[in-house]
Amino acid sequence: MKHTSIDTLKQLISLPAKTFAIIPHRNPDGDAIGSSLGLYHVLKQLGHKVEVISPNEYPNFLAWMPGTAAIKIYDFNKPAGQHILKNSDCIFTLDFNILSRTGDEMGAFLASLPNDFVMIDHHQMPGDYAKLTFSDTSFGSTCELLYSLLEQMDLTDLVHQEAATCIYTGIVTDSGSFRFPKTTAKTHQVVAALIEKGIDNPKIHHALFDNSSFNRLQLMGRALQHLHLIPDTQASYLYLNEEDLHEFSHQKGDTEGLVNYGLSISGIDLTAFFIERKEEGIIKISFRSSGNLDVNLFARTYFEGGGHINAAGGKSTLSLDETIQRYIDIVKQHKQDFYV
Ligand code: 5GP
Ligand code: MN
Repeated sequence: MKHTSIDTLKQLISLPAKTFAIIPHRNPDGDAIGSSLGLYHVLKQLGHKVEVISPNEYPNFLAWMPGTAAIKIYDFNKPAGQHILKNSDCIFTLDFNILSRTGDEMGAFLASLPNDFVMIDHHQMPGDYAKLTFSDTSFGSTCELLYSLLEQMDLTDLVHQEAATCIYTGIVTDSGSFRFPKTTAKTHQVVAALIEKGIDNPKIHHALFDNSSFNRLQLMGRALQHLHLIPDTQASYLYLNEEDLHEFSHQKGDTEGLVNYGLSISGIDLTAFFIERKEEGIIKISFRSSGNLDVNLFARTYFEGGGHINAAGGKSTLSLDETIQRYIDIVKQHKQDFYV
């Protein structure tokens, strides 16, 4: 845990009114958008001018969230985004801990700014770009960490239904609907408080999980056909190539959660999901593990990535076949080195 004093944060967000920018990570998920919008609503309640700038588009399955209409997309209009960021009194970075998680170009731009940053995040190994750092890997989501910070500042009265809906969304998505190991009694207490604030939790679950397109289910079927075991290793992998994505008119967010199927097989404690992103010239990889197998370290060591002990991501510039073969070789030779 790396924490600046909470009083410094309270002072920063107290009046007089200031101009704040909030940034989630690139390819934002429910927790990144949920925490960014949750903080957005609270800072607005306090009377500040607030802008949320996402590095790129958020997935469709999050479009219903309260506040998405206000989100500006950096990639769509870089000069406008840069203008906002330059003129912010402070820039909040949510659900990531190194500036390059916004993308190489945006990360370099952010690093060149003299502005103060605040980091609110729950990933391993935080960078040191922020003046105020609230980094705690014991939290299952940035949203739960955000709520805890608001509690410590005595500001939860400002969490109205809209903010509560956003914060709940991040907790649900990052906890795998309350089933991952970092789901604690405290998580459920926070959720109870959010429900008391009037959120419609069944409706949120429906919007997130029961709202699939037909194509997405077909794509899931293809990914499951591409699920393989690596003999004698307790490891698996699955993949989708560019043709698969094209055949089922892939939309942003369609592949969310599919990696978990690789880990749901009895006896498997490591899986990887490879997605061919021809346009970007990379293979994007998601890693999942169970128990004390550290995929954050695995992704950092071999695939230019990072994340958490049991959920991490990375990338490769080799071809899809070569990347998968490299993963298989590494698993066979080095998997045993990553039990912490
Ligand atoms: P996912 O597989 O769901 O995309 O990501 C799993 C976790 O790893 C998330 O917490 C995400 O923020 C992190 N992550 C995903 N890709 C990368 C990456 O390329 N670099 C780093 N440092 N973290 C990543
Ligand atoms: Mn998160």
